[in-house]
Amino acid sequence: MADTAVAPVTSIELHEAMVCAEHREEICDMCNVDYRQENDEFFGFTPADRTALTIPALGGLKDGVWSCKKHTNTECTQCFNWKKQLNKLHKEAKKAGK
Ligand SMILES: [Zn+2]
Ligand SMILES: [Zn+2]
Repeated sequence: MADTAVAPVTSIELHEAMVCAEHREEICDMCNVDYRQENDEFFGFTPADRTALTIPALGGLKDGVWSCKKHTNTECTQCFNWKKQLNKLHKEAKKAGK
């Protein structure tokens, strides 16, 4: 298939983290997107070659805000704890010498 038109990159903002709109992944091979740098910068980290954020299963959209499936909570601090996750992922990346 000749791809004359590049599909528009669509992301959604999930509690301030950018993820692929279609599959809700920070790094999506299917959409060929990688939002690590955006998210690192947003949360005040130096962009690094780290593992992608773990995006929890989502419940539904409530007033434009996603809830987690597990707790059906739009303000879930367990599932949407990006900063905590990023801290850990950056430490691991540093350890791995990246
Ligand atoms: Zn995707
Ligand atoms: Zn939750």
